[in-house]
Amino acid sequence: MNEKILIIEDDKVILKFLTLALKTHGYTVIGSENGLTGLNLFMNQNPDLVLLDLGLPDLDGMLVLKEIRNQKSTPIIIISARGREQDKVNALDQGANDYVTKPFNLGEVLARIRVSLRNQKEVKESSIFEFENLIVDFDKYLVKLDHEEIHLTPIEFKLLELLIKNQGKVLTHAFLQDHVWGYQTVDEYQSLRVFMASIRRKIEGNQGNRFIITEIGVGYRFRDM
Ligand code: CA
Repeated sequence: MNEKILIIEDDKVILKFLTLALKTHGYTVIGSENGLTGLNLFMNQNPDLVLLDLGLPDLDGMLVLKEIRNQKSTPIIIISARGREQDKVNALDQGANDYVTKPFNLGEVLARIRVSLRNQKEVKESSIFEFENLIVDFDKYLVKLDHEEIHLTPIEFKLLELLIKNQGKVLTHAFLQDHVWGYQTVDEYQSLRVFMASIRRKIEGNQGNRFIITEIGVGYRFRDM
């Protein structure tokens, strides 16, 4: 019943602290101080979620991330001292679910773990999405706000669908562009921004960030609580 979390972190103090804290919160915890043992544990123990440090003594954490993602969709939260925006974007592009920068706040890590585990469980195939006063019917291509129908263009609908089906997860500009247009453009995501602004005007009016949160320099995510 207890969800199992694998921590891959070479800093012994942080590993010990997180292990204890997560156990206190009812999780089963397994840990590794390097990438190789971490990958082995991942394959043999099938954890429900992975907390991954990027700076490891043997393998680059990004490589560990790719290896895990090649095998499974297990949620991965990066916990790293690399706070640069580009590192964050790279990790999310490689399939990380979330990113926490050291020094971190335990409450924040616990909240992100809960969100990632919950999202993993929810049935993503459900055809009707309801969130506050917004209803989206994916089969009927229908969006309603306060029971009033809102018209979205096919591209806007596709973008909204991606955000909703990954609720809580930051989707990078490159990910969205790839999944909607299928190729990278050279306009530095200008069209993406235009479409996102239009969606937000339609479903948020002038209350920005009501449903869609802008992660500046990274991408967008659909609010999850
Ligand atoms: Ca480290």
